[in-house]
Amino acid sequence: MEVQAASKKSRKKTVEKRRPLIIAGPCSAESEGQLLQTARKLAADKRTDFFRAGIWKPRTRPGNFEGVGNVGLRWLQRVKKETGLKTATEVATTTHVYEALKYGIDCLWIGARTTANPFATQEIADALRGADVMVCLKNPVNPDPALWLGAIERISAAGIQKIIAIHRGFSSYGKSRYRNMPQWAIPLWLKKQVPGLPILCDPSHIAGKRELIPHIVRRSVLLGFDGLMIEVHHEPSKALSDAGQQLTPETLERLMAGKFRNSSYL
Ligand code: PEP
Ligand code: MN
Repeated sequence: MEVQAASKKSRKKTVEKRRPLIIAGPCSAESEGQLLQTARKLAADKRTDFFRAGIWKPRTRPGNFEGVGNVGLRWLQRVKKETGLKTATEVATTTHVYEALKYGIDCLWIGARTTANPFATQEIADALRGADVMVCLKNPVNPDPALWLGAIERISAAGIQKIIAIHRGFSSYGKSRYRNMPQWAIPLWLKKQVPGLPILCDPSHIAGKRELIPHIVRRSVLLGFDGLMIEVHHEPSKALSDAGQQLTPETLERLMAGKFRNSSYL
């Protein structure tokens, strides 16, 4: 397999010094104050590596909150300056990529709806050529492992060195326990295809409701995932998107202290 995951040097650092890798923050950036309140608490706890916040939000139907747009990039810059946390946001178009790079965002993630579209991922890969940025690829919404691998290959072929896969579960129709079915065999298959590729679990989008998150986190630890991308909001019930699945910074702290204690991660 030709895909290059994180360079040997950066992988060593991630695995040995900072396992698990944690990307935490709200589903969406809503205001500068909201980002700062959440980020200050996460920074104080010292477990979070990257602060996430979506500023361009892919919504299933129009009329829902679609993100604050470019102004959120300035807010993320301020978060980084004040807290020292690295920043992450979702990109779905080439314009998003150029804007995010202009504002020094450290990690760009490609969302599940975009990974499902090879035209879109290729355009993003072309826009990323030559950039020194970390790129996370969420699995496609549909359970098609080759499509996930293909998107990773496109980003790798553009010369991106630091690539991380994120398992956020797969859509299904009808009632089910999870918002997105975990289908753990798929990320495990990916891990075999690309040895050394770090894979994080996104328990927030798998669960859809916060009560299920600890169980999913525990499972991901047992299966050898490399960390988490997890949604955290200072007042989850007031969140403008994904309110039911976000944790408070305090809950994340407790979860991390308790559920990871006996794992080989710490
Ligand atoms: C998100 O991370 O808020 C998001 C929209 O994710 P996904 O692409 O996994 O649905
Ligand atoms: Mn979300």
